[in-house]
Amino acid sequence: MKKKKHKNKKKWIHRAILALACLCILFGIYSLADHIIHPIRFQKKNVIVEYKEPYDAMDNVKSVFLGDKKDVKINKAINPKKKGSQTITYTYKNKSQDVTYQIKDTKAPTLKLRSIKTDTVGTPKALEFVEKVRDASKVKVTKQIENDKKQEGKYKVFITATDASGNSTKKETTLSRYNDTQAPTIKKANKIVGIVGQKINKNDITVIDDYDPNPKVKIDDSKVDYDNEGTYAIKYTVTDRSGNKRVLKRKVKLSLNDTDKYDKIVYLTFDDGPSDNTKKILKILKDNKVHATFFVTGTNQSKNDIIKKAYKQGNAIALHSYTHDYSIYTNEKTYMDDLKKIQDMVKKVTGHKSMIVRFPGGSSNSISKNYCKGIMTKLTHDLEAKGYQYHDWNVDSTDASGNNVPASQLVENATKTNGLDVVTILCHDTDAKNTTVEALPKIIKYYKENGYTFLPITSTSYAAHHGVTN
Ligand SMILES: [Zn+2]
Repeated sequence: MKKKKHKNKKKWIHRAILALACLCILFGIYSLADHIIHPIRFQKKNVIVEYKEPYDAMDNVKSVFLGDKKDVKINKAINPKKKGSQTITYTYKNKSQDVTYQIKDTKAPTLKLRSIKTDTVGTPKALEFVEKVRDASKVKVTKQIENDKKQEGKYKVFITATDASGNSTKKETTLSRYNDTQAPTIKKANKIVGIVGQKINKNDITVIDDYDPNPKVKIDDSKVDYDNEGTYAIKYTVTDRSGNKRVLKRKVKLSLNDTDKYDKIVYLTFDDGPSDNTKKILKILKDNKVHATFFVTGTNQSKNDIIKKAYKQGNAIALHSYTHDYSIYTNEKTYMDDLKKIQDMVKKVTGHKSMIVRFPGGSSNSISKNYCKGIMTKLTHDLEAKGYQYHDWNVDSTDASGNNVPASQLVENATKTNGLDVVTILCHDTDAKNTTVEALPKIIKYYKENGYTFLPITSTSYAAHHGVTN
């Protein structure tokens, strides 16, 4: 009996081992079959790809059963700029396997703050506390000032940056408030020259306050007789938001507009110089005893001596662009930075600070739309508010339409006045515009014969404007 029990136990063990062995073999067969049907092995089956961060779908291939990783092909690359799921098909020797990737924005913005000092009146905007914020998507910034009493003192400020996917970063900084007892300072523009019949622009002075970004400017021009030429006293009063005041008295000279002095005027203008042709242009202008306006750039500074010569010869040197790259239209700052550079360059060469501007492409250009929507609307307004004058043209020689446009064609176009009494002609001063030089004497001849006076553009000149389209 005992022996039989022992025998049975043994039998069961044998059976169990046999079953296990069978299972192992089955699993082996299954596994082998799976490896043959799905030869590509992956690092991960569920992959989250960070939004806007490059990810190479091949990096997920771990190995290939009895094969080489290098022979695996994918049907497309992952586009990390598109949120959501993307399925990539991997193929190895006619066998295909799909892996689905989730493109997600999981990273919170990085945020660097600055502390701010202000008066007891103003409250800086949340963004003013931000020195740097970075994220793959658009970020919203909010602030919370702890227990702000609008009195002298230091306050804790919490800034939260939240991205489009809701990831957020919160950091702390400080706002220090002081009683402002200092009046704003006033920086004068060179010399103010007004035009009869035109109100004096109060923005021709620059006001700086230690705390108030926009001090109020009032101008008392009650002593100015806008109907007559003459020199008049005016008074500016500037006040910051804490109530500190400063007064500036100065004189303004009003003169007649060019267009009031002459019946017919032509402004010859040359863009994009200096160039190899500037010298030839100057010679023609000199021989004909006429003056023109050069809207110069900073791209050919080895020839800046010729700008000086042009200026000494009585021509106007005005501002086109330092780089002449349309990326200056990216925002107001990029434009104003470029303008300041060309203004400084012209000041260095001629000793005169020019406030006369021609936009690359003119104020009506639509290329700027590729960089910033509405930028021309802003810039034309900004420039006028800052005391600049921008000039387009109302007659086009069309020398920009190609190099070596026949001179006869340029003369024909440059003399199409359409009955205008004040003409601004667009020409170009570059190495390639030889036919412009060739056409110039005939253009000058036409306007002389038709009773026009040649003038360089000044602050009292008529400014042709196209009308803004962006
Ligand atoms: Zn240009």
